Amino acid sequence: MNTSEILDLKKILTDPKKVVIVPHKNPDGDAMGSTLGLFHYIEKLGHSATVIAPNDYPDFLKWIPGTKDVLIYEENTTVGDVLISEADLIFTLDFNALHRCGSMETPIENATAIKIMIDHHQQPDDYATYVYSDVNMCSTCEMVYHFIDKMGGLELIDVSIGEALYTGIMTDTASFRFPLTTSTTHRVIAHLIDVGVEKSNIHDAVYDTNSYDRLQLMGCALNNLTFLEKFKTAYISLTNKELDAHDFQKGDTEGLVNYGLSLKGAKFAVIFIEHKKESIIKISFRSKGDFDVNTFARTHFNGGGHKNASGGRSNLNLEETIAKFISILSEYKPELDS
Ligand code: 5GP
Ligand code: MN
Repeated sequence: MNTSEILDLKKILTDPKKVVIVPHKNPDGDAMGSTLGLFHYIEKLGHSATVIAPNDYPDFLKWIPGTKDVLIYEENTTVGDVLISEADLIFTLDFNALHRCGSMETPIENATAIKIMIDHHQQPDDYATYVYSDVNMCSTCEMVYHFIDKMGGLELIDVSIGEALYTGIMTDTASFRFPLTTSTTHRVIAHLIDVGVEKSNIHDAVYDTNSYDRLQLMGCALNNLTFLEKFKTAYISLTNKELDAHDFQKGDTEGLVNYGLSLKGAKFAVIFIEHKKESIIKISFRSKGDFDVNTFARTHFNGGGHKNASGGRSNLNLEETIAKFISILSEYKPELDS
C-alpha cells in the first residue's frame, strides 16, 4: 500500500463509517488476532465495526478481547448479509482469495463497499480496491501493526489491540521461531509488551488448555505417523472414527502436522484428516528449507498458502488420497533429496 493509498484511506475514514472485517474460514490465531486487533483500532477511530467470521473458531482463541461481538456468519447469515451489503468498507484479512471465506464469497463479491485486503499469502487475487500484500511477513497481525503505523495510529495501540496482535504473531511464527520472524517482528512484540500485554497469559491461554481427550488424540496421531525415509517425508492420518473416539473439538488437530516435521531427517510433513461435515479430506502441508508446499498444494490438492506452510483438500477417500500423495512424491524426489 503506497503513501497515496494511505492518504485515500485516511480521508475515507475522516467521518464515521460502517466497517466489516472478515477472516478466512476455519479462522486460526492469526485470522482472529488480526481481525480483532483491527476491529479495536477502527472502533477507536470512531467507526462502527463488526468482525464477521465465516464459521466458528476454536475455544482457545475465545478470550481475545472483542470475541463476544464476533458474528459467526454460518449461524447468523441474515444479519451478516445486511451488514455486508450496508458496509462502507470491508477489510479481508489473512487470506488471498475470496473463496477462502466460504459462503461469504458471493455477498462480499456483490457488496458495494470499498474492499481492503491485508494478507501475507502467496499469489493474492485481484478483488480488492486497496491491497496490502507482503509474502515476507510472518503474520497478518504484524501487517495490521504496520498498517496502523502507516495510518499514524501507533499511540492508539492499547492492551486490547496488543493482545489480539500478539496472539497471531505468536501462533503464525510458532512462538517466534519460523524463518520469517525478523528483528522488526521482535520490535513490534516489544511495543505490545510495553503497552501492557501479559505475554505468559497468552501462551497459557492458547497452548496450555489441552483437554485429556486432545492429548489422547495427539497420541493416536503420533501412533499413526509414517516416515517415508527415501522422500524425507513424514505423514499422519486421522479417521472420523479416531476423531469421534477422542471427542474431537474444533482446533484439536491444530499444530499436529509439525510433529512430523520435527522428525530427524524430515523435510516435508503432511497430515490427512477426514472431514465428516464436508465429506472431504483436509490436508496440511509443512516443509523445511526450499521445498515449496504452496506450489505442491496448488498443483495437486486444490489449495495453497505459503512456501513452508500450506493447506489443501481431496475429494477421494482417505486411503485413495494417501495413495495419490505417495504416487506423486517420486516426481519430487530430486527436490526432496537436495
Ligand atoms: P493449515 O494447514 O494450518 O490449514 O494452513 C496452512 C496455511 O495455508 C495457512 O496460512 C492457511 O491460511 C493456508 N491455507 C490452508 N488451506 C488453504 C487453501 O485451500 N488455499 C489457500 N490459498 N491457502 C490455504
Ligand atoms: Mn496468517
